[in-house]
Amino acid sequence: MRVLEKRFETLLLHSVEKNKKPIKSKITPIYQTSAFTFDHLDELEGFFQGEGNYLYSRTGNPNTDELGQAVAAIEGAPAGVATSSGLSAILAGVLAVVRSGDHIVAADDLYGGSFHLLKEELNQLGIKTTFVSFSNLDEVEQAIQPNTKLLYTESITNPLLRVENLEAVVNLAKKHDLKTLVDNTFATPFHCNPYLQGIDLVIHSATKYIGGHSDVTAGVVVGGEDLVGQARAKIVNLGANVSPFEAWLTSRGLKTLALRMKCQSFNARKLAEKLSSNPNIAKVYYPFNETEEGFGAMVTIEVSKNIDINQFFKSLSWVKIVPTLAGVETTVSHPLTTSHRALPVEASAALGITKEVVRISVGIEHHEDIIQAFEKAIENSVH
Ligand SMILES: *Cc1c(COP(=O)(O)O)cnc(C)c1O
Repeated sequence: MRVLEKRFETLLLHSVEKNKKPIKSKITPIYQTSAFTFDHLDELEGFFQGEGNYLYSRTGNPNTDELGQAVAAIEGAPAGVATSSGLSAILAGVLAVVRSGDHIVAADDLYGGSFHLLKEELNQLGIKTTFVSFSNLDEVEQAIQPNTKLLYTESITNPLLRVENLEAVVNLAKKHDLKTLVDNTFATPFHCNPYLQGIDLVIHSATKYIGGHSDVTAGVVVGGEDLVGQARAKIVNLGANVSPFEAWLTSRGLKTLALRMKCQSFNARKLAEKLSSNPNIAKVYYPFNETEEGFGAMVTIEVSKNIDINQFFKSLSWVKIVPTLAGVETTVSHPLTTSHRALPVEASAALGITKEVVRISVGIEHHEDIIQAFEKAIENSVH
C-alpha cells in the first residue's frame, strides 16, 4: 500500500513550501496575511535592527506601504502612511503633533466628521480646538493661544468649495512656530500639493478621489519623515491600519487619478459654466479662477426658491443621491440633511448651507449628458 508523506492533518497545512523563490508578477500581489515568517532568530533580530522586511500586518504590510509611498510621491513628500479611513488619517495626523493640554485652531467649515472628531472625541481627551473662519486670517491669528500647536484647514472646503490660501496659512504658522495640517481630499494631488507649499502634514480620505471607484474606505497621511513616523506610531498603537486588500484596491484606483481628474474637472467646469446662466439657479460655487481647465470635480449649486427641491432630486434620473463623493459616476448630495445634519440650522445658514444647496460630484460620463440631466431636473421642478 502507498502511504502519505505525512499524516493527513499535517499535510493540509504543510505540504507546499511557501515563498520559495520570488515570483516577478507585473502587479504587486495582495499580501493577504496577518503576519510574516522568519527562518531563524538572526532574521528576526534583523527585522528589529531595521533591515527591512515585515513582521505583522498591523505594523506594516507591502500593500499598505505601497499606498502610503505612492501618495507621498505625488504629493512631493518624503514619507507617507496609509490608514483605515480618512478620519483615522486625521486622528493620526493630529496626534502626531498635539498632546493632552495642547490647542488647535481649525477652520469652521471643516468636513463634518473631522469637526466631530475635534469637538467631541479630542476635546474629551484634553485637546481643545477653536473653530474660526480661515477666509479671515486675522481671526485665525487672534485665536492662537500660548498652548496652540496646530493650524488645521482644507485645501478646498466642503460644500462651498472655497480654495484656501495655503501660502498665507504657512506664513502665519511660521510666525507663531506652529505646525500645519491640510486635508487635501477635495483638491487631490493632481490640482494641489500642500506639502510643496510648506504645509507639514497632508491628509487624504482615500475613500474619495485617491481610490476613485467608491469601493474602499481608506486614508493617507503624508509629510516629513519625523511627523509621518509619529503618525505611523499612532496608527500602529491605535490599530487604525488599512487592510491589505483595501490598500491594494486603492493603489489600483490611484493609477488613473490623472485621467480621472482631467476628465472630471473638465466636466465639472463645463457644468458649472452652463448652470451659472440658468435663471432658476441662484448661485454656483466652483473655483473658476484657479485654472482654465477646471479645478476639482465638485460643483455646488443653490437652486432658486421657485424650485421644488424634492421634485428636483426625484427628476435627476440616472444621477443618484449618494452621501459621498469622488466616484467615477456623477452623484448628488443634500448637505443640509446629510453632511451638515448635526449643525444647528442657524449655524448652517451662517455658512450658506440652506435647503436649496445641492452638492454635485461630477463623474466621467459625457459632459453634455451630465448638463442635460441637471437642466431637465431644473425644468421639471419649477413651481
Ligand atoms: C470623506 C472625508 C473625510 C473622511 O474620510 P473617511 O474616509 O470617510 O473617513 C475627511 N475629509 C474630507 C474632506 C472628506 O471628504
